[in-house]
Amino acid sequence: MKTIGLVGGMSWHSTATYYRLINEEVAARRGGHSSARISLQSLDFAEVRACQERGDWTASAELLAGATRRCVAGGAELVGLCTNLMHKNFPALESAAAQAGARAVHIADAVAAVAARNGSTALGLLGTRWVMEETFYADRLATHGISVLVPDADDRGLVDRVIFDELTQGIVRDDSRGAYVSVMDDLRARGAEAVVLACTEIDLLISATDSPLPLIDSTDAHASLLVDLALA
Ligand code: GLU
Repeated sequence: MKTIGLVGGMSWHSTATYYRLINEEVAARRGGHSSARISLQSLDFAEVRACQERGDWTASAELLAGATRRCVAGGAELVGLCTNLMHKNFPALESAAAQAGARAVHIADAVAAVAARNGSTALGLLGTRWVMEETFYADRLATHGISVLVPDADDRGLVDRVIFDELTQGIVRDDSRGAYVSVMDDLRARGAEAVVLACTEIDLLISATDSPLPLIDSTDAHASLLVDLALA
């Protein structure tokens, strides 16, 4: 079994989910007392969030590259970055991993693998405003033949606000769940075949039973691809 590196803390709520899912998956596949080999670097999210707010993606890339090197020094052979948004800095993380002899595993590749299994190619995208409004995430999905639909401007504001004012601080509210369901209803009406929870905390708020259309949870998809590769 290879050692999985996790660059997390963005936020720690979703990193805890990765830790649990990866161990559950290894236990289910191997049985008995089996659990995952994990090298975790958990950043102070306040520092990363400050970089986002001032648009300093060079500084955030350095934080991620440093965490990646420490992860690999701790034994990681595969590295997963436990946030969709910070994949904006994926090239820096990927090259730090490669220089240290490890492979970085992109979260959107994991989402695309689930979409391919489900046969869906037009996906609604819920995430932070950069994930919905910039091209770095949609472009990666497009390399797998997937096109995305994003909410309108008001709804994008709402989705992003709920992430940072609530979910990344561990706050889960029924009224926000209702608001997300109506955003997903709109995406379905516009032709989305499934919705990507392209923020690693949305699964705290929304589950399959709440959703008007099939869900692809990025956290679950990424954790399970990391386990596939670790056990291959
Ligand atoms: N965890 C979130 C994501 O998947 C957002 C938090 C962040 O990295 O800023 O995009």
